[in-house]
Amino acid sequence: MHQPKSVGEAAEMLARFGEKGRLYAGGTELLLAMKHDLLRYEHLVDIKTVPGLDKIEAKNSSLSIGGTVTHREIEKSAVVRERLPVMAEMTRHIANVRVRATGTLGGNICFAEPHSDPATLLLALGAVAKVQGKSGEKALSMSEILMGAYETALAADEILTAIEIPLPAKSQRAAYLKFQTHERPTLGLALVLSLDESGRAITKAAAAVGSVAPKPCRSEQAEALLTGPREKVERQLSEASGALADAADPVDDLEGSAEYKRHLIGVYLRRAFAQVLSGNPPGREKIAD
Ligand SMILES: Cc1cc2nc3c(=O)[nH]c(=O)nc-3n(C[C@H](O)[C@H](O)[C@H](O)COP(=O)(O)OP(=O)(O)OC[C@H]3O[C@@H](n4cnc5c(N)ncnc54)[C@H](O)[C@@H]3O)c2cc1C
Repeated sequence: MHQPKSVGEAAEMLARFGEKGRLYAGGTELLLAMKHDLLRYEHLVDIKTVPGLDKIEAKNSSLSIGGTVTHREIEKSAVVRERLPVMAEMTRHIANVRVRATGTLGGNICFAEPHSDPATLLLALGAVAKVQGKSGEKALSMSEILMGAYETALAADEILTAIEIPLPAKSQRAAYLKFQTHERPTLGLALVLSLDESGRAITKAAAAVGSVAPKPCRSEQAEALLTGPREKVERQLSEASGALADAADPVDDLEGSAEYKRHLIGVYLRRAFAQVLSGNPPGREKIAD
């Protein structure tokens, strides 16, 4: 186990070890996979003690959550609860308290397990992953970093240093709902709507669905159908959920058939829509399982 003192040193170590090394944060996924001999590494680069990666910071229009911040820290953070309550609420329902106390947001995103709650919500919120490697820094959108099941766009020496989330404007409301019967969600659905001053029309929509396929996705067609006067959008909800399901292209697996998941997308889009428009203050919506 190696304990670098900076992100630069960690990136150098990862580059030097190549396939024999792996970055290690909370270890909730990595150690399990190594225990079952699914993954083997000679060197683990522990970034938990690297200064600066464990910060949660609210800026003017965004919230920055460091790569090694644990789910539990997000859930309990006064800043997150105040500025982005939908994120705190979503996090509160991840796994169990032991996993949340150790597992990090960075580890969740970088493992790219398809049944990720944060990935779906962060995609709808337009979050960006800040990444640093040996050759410098870059920013990747959620759809860029998540390439498929257990597959990211990160090179071996690259470290997710923070997730930067645009803070919803006053006119925006957000909800994240999930359906879960086993250890991980069968479906996660995030909806972010911008309302006009009267509250009667939706001026912008972002809808993301996750866990039903290798990676979460959005649908431009669904989002267009979710925009306009409320009554009209309500009439278009079935069409919008059909478009979202087409884009997600659910797979048959142990969580259920593709057809069942398409049905769930319809049910959860309706629920999320009702919840977002239920009159709660913007961004204050609660999760319903
Ligand atoms: C029992 C159980 C239930 C769970 N339920 C849920 C659930 O309901 N919803 C949900 O969303 N998740 C769930 N999870 C997943 C959980 O959120 C993740 O295990 C956790 O967030 C991973 O973080 P970690 O720090 O432990 O990652 P690690 O195990 O340390 O690392 C995971 C992978 O990511 C890489 N990595 C880690 N951090 C970084 C970084 N900063 N930059 C680059 N690469 C990095 C590592 O190299 C490794 O490949 C569950 C997990 C368990 C074990």
